[in-house]
Amino acid sequence: MTHLVVDYRQQAETLLQLGREFHARGWVPATSSNFSARVDAGRVAITVSGRHKARLTTDDIMLVDLDGNSLSPGKRPSAETLLHTALYRRHPEVGGVLHTHSPAATVLSLTVGDTLMLQGYELLKAFAGVATHETRIRIPIFANDQDITRLSAQVDAWITEHGALHAYLIAGHGLYTWARDLRHAGIQIEALEFMFECELLLRRIGS
Ligand SMILES: [Zn+2]
Repeated sequence: MTHLVVDYRQQAETLLQLGREFHARGWVPATSSNFSARVDAGRVAITVSGRHKARLTTDDIMLVDLDGNSLSPGKRPSAETLLHTALYRRHPEVGGVLHTHSPAATVLSLTVGDTLMLQGYELLKAFAGVATHETRIRIPIFANDQDITRLSAQVDAWITEHGALHAYLIAGHGLYTWARDLRHAGIQIEALEFMFECELLLRRIGS
């Protein structure tokens, strides 16, 4: 038990650090976005609903079970918690899930249809199992939906049909990505945001 508490504190500290870093990059405006880390097989540390990500304290992190129920008395998780816990339930190896709202992700998600294909980028190697830029990563774009249970079911069905997935976009809303731990999930956010900005630049040059 002591081990788990220490682990929780470490995870919480990393979540605070990511909040400051991502806010400085313009990826988590206002009180948007949420970050989470697996604490053990059945519990996840996640940012409390509606908190400003640049100013998080450990009081802004709470525990939920894998159905998204609060395990921290008096603290309410974001409705989008279910999108996090669905990934932890489906993938026992996932240790961190990050959700951001950058301008590049938002604009692309509203303009490229139902899929964004990333190909030819050296930074694709930031993803687990990708050893060369000579590949492509498919990012599905789901319609935004305030019914998070329904949206979560759509994501789950997509993974069942198409297999491995590294990230997805919600139209007009933002990005979700996940990895074996928070550090790798953070690297994926950084790589994806770089490629999203490149995609915007390419479209500007092409127009
Ligand atoms: Zn969101």
